[in-house]
Amino acid sequence: MTNQDLLSIAKECGTPVYVYDVNSISEQYKKLTSSFSKTTRFFYAAKALTNINILKYVEKLGASLDCVSINEVKLGLKAGFSNDRILFTPNCVDLAEIEEAMSHKVHINIDNISILEQFGNKFGGSYPIFVRINPHIYAGGNHKISTGHIDSKFGISIHQMRHIERVMKSTNLNVEGLHMHTGSEIKDPDVFIQGLEIMFELAEHFPNLKYLDMGSGFKVPYQEGDIETDVKSLGKKVNASIKKYEEESGKKFQLWFEPGKFLVSDSGHFLVKSNVIKQTTATVFVGVNSGFNHLIRPMFYDSYHIIENLSNPKGAERIYTVVGNICETDTFAWDRKINEVREGDVLVFRNAGAYGFEMSSNFNSRLKPAEVMFLDGKAHLIRKRDEFEDLLKNQIEVL
Ligand SMILES: *Cc1c(COP(=O)(O)O)cnc(C)c1O
Repeated sequence: MTNQDLLSIAKECGTPVYVYDVNSISEQYKKLTSSFSKTTRFFYAAKALTNINILKYVEKLGASLDCVSINEVKLGLKAGFSNDRILFTPNCVDLAEIEEAMSHKVHINIDNISILEQFGNKFGGSYPIFVRINPHIYAGGNHKISTGHIDSKFGISIHQMRHIERVMKSTNLNVEGLHMHTGSEIKDPDVFIQGLEIMFELAEHFPNLKYLDMGSGFKVPYQEGDIETDVKSLGKKVNASIKKYEEESGKKFQLWFEPGKFLVSDSGHFLVKSNVIKQTTATVFVGVNSGFNHLIRPMFYDSYHIIENLSNPKGAERIYTVVGNICETDTFAWDRKINEVREGDVLVFRNAGAYGFEMSSNFNSRLKPAEVMFLDGKAHLIRKRDEFEDLLKNQIEVL
């Protein structure tokens, strides 16, 4: 997909609009499958981007699906994933939501002792489960997206192994898998190996174990000089570590991963229009027709998105602060070098596939953007832009 394609889409569909070049998803998926052993399975973390067309595309690639809510499970089934290719990994949900997932016969991952006990008392070993462990490895690019540390709400602490075992024995739980997800954007691949070794140790406590799920943490580069997780070298290390374990223990487990942004981040291009150029004493602002209501990542966790001016690619580079049109401090980027921006120019935010549209809202009574899928050289509208009526859709007028 070229910049010219993006400009045509902006012209045809208007802005703001999210465009997904699905070829990139396929390439990222191949990187993963070619780096690990053939039996390794990849569960796309649906929460990164759940448009039904993206889910269907990922299903056709052969991946499985990691879901964090019952609605993601239902979307996954609707997109064509069979139940054995869906893992339900909720946190802080009640037993009723877990029972609803059981009715769909998907894999279930339990992340706290209270639910483990309730589940065991009601179902015993009749339905196999995963247990989510918190290994207390500090990993992840940013405290807000790190999940494995000691203060994290996720998983059951490895220090509570005895308690897990007690519940398991007294209720006859059938634990088929162990899970850990230590956070997003892990820079040091050795963290995965460290996690894997903890898994091997824990495996001794679970006689029915078949699967080890290492979650995600695969990093993608957001700016120049950033690195992508080197999955080739990680794959080699992981394979060596598993081989050694299998030889020593005589046991064999299937390895699972749950990549979200690694699969879809790069595919996404978010197009906006420059509304106003505003020169102040200190800086030059570009005010665009969007805001953190459409792309919250920069304000939410200081993420960096490369921004380019598609309408004036040869213009002289100048320094800008790019802001949205929301009545809150709403900065996409500070002091960015961008080809001269004029009012009306189309700008693109790169790497906007993961947690972009998915986290959008109607804040300021603005309309959510449209979504376009670029497939085999053609652009397909896959979500209409909100309309004014959508703002009132679920409201009940009593006055
Ligand atoms: C969010 C999440 C993922 C995906 O994380 P990425 O950083 O997008 O790869 C995987 N597993 C679980 C349980 C998650 O909550």
